Order: sequence, then C-alpha cells, then structure tokens
Amino acid sequence: MPRYDFDLLTIGAGSGGVASSRRAGSYGARVAICEELRVGGTCVLRGCVPKKLLVYGAQFADAFADAEGFGWTVPPTDFDWPKLIAAKDKEIGRLSQIYVNMLNNARVEIIDGHAALTDPHTVEVAGRSYTAENILIATGSWPEVPQIPGIEHVISSNEALDLEELPGRIVIVGGGYIAVEFAGIFNGLGSEVVELIRRPELLYGFDDDIREALGQEMRGRGVDIRGRTQVARIDKVTGGYIVTTTAGDKIEADLVMYATGRAPNTKGMGLAEIGVRINEAGAVVVDEWQRSSVPNIYAVGDVTDRINLTPVAIAEGRAIAETLFNDNPTKMDHTNVPSAVFSQPPISAVGLTEERARREYGEVDIYMARFKPMKNTLSGREERTLMKLVVDARTDRMLGCHMLGPDAPEIIQGLAVAVKCGATKRQFDQTVGIHPSAAEEFVTMREKTVRPTKLAAD
Ligand code: NDP
Repeated sequence: MPRYDFDLLTIGAGSGGVASSRRAGSYGARVAICEELRVGGTCVLRGCVPKKLLVYGAQFADAFADAEGFGWTVPPTDFDWPKLIAAKDKEIGRLSQIYVNMLNNARVEIIDGHAALTDPHTVEVAGRSYTAENILIATGSWPEVPQIPGIEHVISSNEALDLEELPGRIVIVGGGYIAVEFAGIFNGLGSEVVELIRRPELLYGFDDDIREALGQEMRGRGVDIRGRTQVARIDKVTGGYIVTTTAGDKIEADLVMYATGRAPNTKGMGLAEIGVRINEAGAVVVDEWQRSSVPNIYAVGDVTDRINLTPVAIAEGRAIAETLFNDNPTKMDHTNVPSAVFSQPPISAVGLTEERARREYGEVDIYMARFKPMKNTLSGREERTLMKLVVDARTDRMLGCHMLGPDAPEIIQGLAVAVKCGATKRQFDQTVGIHPSAAEEFVTMREKTVRPTKLAAD
C-alpha cells in the first residue's frame, strides 16, 4: 500500500504544470493535477494563444493596405470584433479540451478546485484531502495594478481578450510585453491608442537600438506613445473615462487598460505557513532543481518569477519529471533563452543586449543592418527592419542577436540554436544566405558599427 495517494500532485494546470504532470505520468508515476479555473492556464486561455490570434487578426490591416502596390484593388473592408472573439474562444476551447485529453491519456487525475497545503504532503481541495510524495506549485501569475484613485475602472489583458466591442479610443498603461502587444492589436484593428510609459522608451531590458526603433515604428503607425508619463487618477465620465497624468494632462478614452506586470499566484495556498520560502515579490524561491525550501515541494514557471515565458515553464516542468521519475537528473538551463514581442512590427532576441554585453565582456563588436524589406518597395510602406549582432571582440563568439521587423520571431528561433551552440561571428559569415530573404542579412553583415560606446538605457 503506497504511503501517499500520489507520487506527484501538481497545483495549476497551465503550461508548466501540465508538461510536468504528463511527463511524470508517462514514466508511470501516479499523478494528479489540481486546477481552479479551466485546464490550459494563462498561455492557452488568457495569454500567448488568444493574443497571437488577435495579432493575426490585426495584421490583415497591413495586408489590405499593402496589396494595392501589388496590383490588387481592395474593396472597402469591414471588421467584426465579436466574430473574431467568438472564433478565438472556439479555438481556445478546443485547445483546453486537447490538454484535458492529453492529461487523461497520461493517466493524470484532474482535480477541480482551489488547492491549499495543510502540511508538506497534504493538499486540501473543496473539503477533501489528498496526499502526495511530491508537490509541484505551478500556479502562474495574475495581472497586477498600482493602487491609484479610479483603478477599479481599468481592465487587464484578461478582460481585453473578451471585450464585447472594440473600443474607439483606448489608453494602455505600461511599456512591457503585454502593453506593447495590445497597443499593436488595438491600433491594427482601428482603435485610437494612447500608450503611457513611465520610462522614456518601451520594453526596458531589450536592446536599446531595438527599443528606440520599435517606438518609432509604432508611432509611425499611429500609436500615441507618451514617455515619462505616470497616471495620477482615472475618473469615469459619461461615455468613458478621463485619465489624468501626474503632469496634469487629461486623456479621454472609452477604455483604460493596465499592463503593469504580473504577480505570482502564491496567496491563500498555505505555502509560507508550511515553510515554503516566498520572496518580496511573492514568488516561490527555488534552487537549480526547481526545489523550494521544503525539499519535496517544487515550483515552475511564473510563480517563481524568473524568466516568465511558457517554453521556460514547460522545460522546467519536464526537468522535474526527468529528475524524479526517470532517473535522469535534469536542471533547466536559463541561459540564452530567446523571446519575442508580438508587437507590430514584431521584435525578437536571443542572448545579451549591447549594454549587458559591454558590462559583462568589456570589448564587444556591434554589427547592424537597417533596411527596407523588399515587400515594402512595392507596397510603399515606410517601415524599416533592424538587425543587430553583438559579438565578443576577444573570442569572436556571438553574444546576442536582435531583430525588429516582419518574421523576427521565426528568424531568431533558428539563430538561437547557433547562439546556444556557441557559434562565432566567423561561422555566421561562413553560412550561406537564403536569397532573397531578410534573414540572409544576419549572415552578410561585414562592417562593424563604429560609434561612441553606448551605455545608459532607462
Ligand atoms: P512587464 O514586466 O513586461 O512590463 C510591465 C510594464 O509596466 C513595464 O513597462 C513597467 O515599467 C510598467 N509598470 C510597472 N509598474 C508600473 C506602475 N506602477 N505604473 C506605470 N507603469 C508600471 O509585464 P507585462 O505585464 O507586460 O507582462 C508580464 C510578463 O509576461 C512579461 O514580463 C513576460 O515575461 C510575459 N509575457 C511574455 C510575452 C511574450 O513572450 N511575447 C507576452 C506577454 C507577456 P518599468 O519598465 O519602468 O518597470
């Protein structure tokens, strides 16, 4: 008779929790997964997937506008927001069901309800106790907003994905991934968008040249980005809202959206009470094996607040299953994780920014290409693509690849393999390009960019 009901009990059926549980189940472990909302988590239900579907929807505006230069006559177009939202909902319903099926196939028991730990091996859900040898916290994160007057009027990305109608005018607060992506979606679909950021540029943490260029392109598309701007209050008025900045400016809008970061979901689970260390940000503190301060309790993904990306959570979750149930001790490697922002145009990067590389490596060589993509010659679109390579001057090793422009995420994914393998600039140079493509620029950059050392960034 086993000592516990399960070998692994996972709390949270998002990307990380599901990946870990399935992998553990495939190795014969007795696994349960507990979820209080729908199976799928942020990525499938409220994040990456629905967001990307809306990005696709918004991109048709470009396709219609560009088509004329290629000989097409495009009749007046019309956009139906409820139709897009219904189609998106149908797709995420399908994906959520696929997740359920995959869990069933891996013989993972699904438990519905909110889980709280009563001791390191016991979880209570809806008045019932379950015991497990190992417990995995994979509860993700939730939008967080600052407490200012009128904050109760704002929506987060959760609601933005389910609006009944497209707002005519929207104010978006924040300069991170989510704010930038939704600014692109709403702008592409025809809303007037004002984006308020407290720094001078968007997307702190990305390479400064890319940040500046993205800001220019988004402004060129009509997004009113206001830097060094903070909100003092939000008031509801007839027909909408007034956002008042700390400088006293007033902006009228039909809707106000906040995307000012996400907080780890650790509250109300009894974690601290049983000795799980939680940091100041509310995240579970884990070691390189994803283990918390309680040895049989693990955590992955956003709830640990490290690199908050779905594929990272998945890799972390699988590493735990390998370690515990396949006699294959596996640590997640958090270096050179590529990422993308599905802005319009999109950006993507792997490795170090110029600024970080200079700090860590001292002397670095910079290569940059800024050009009009071929498609824009006939379309007349003014947008330019920017590519940038950061190379360790001493060893010639590629430290960072950055891109702003169409297909950036698709292109950088391939380069991430090269960077992960420790490729040198010389090996990039020896690689034959694919012509005509934008990606070939990454293997044909010959001239170093000479300019005063650029440190700074705000
Ligand atoms: P981010 O941390 O990316 O950005 C938060 C933004 O809000 C920053 O610009 C920040 O400014 C600003 N901010 C924070 N607090 C305040 C405040 N009180 N007033 C005004 N502005 C404020 O968070 P997001 O919510 O955009 O996204 C959460 C995470 O989700 C991301 O970090 C990312 O890991 C993940 N994600 C990934 C996506 C992808 O891979 N494509 C897409 C969406 C989300 P400052 O820079 O000054 O701190």
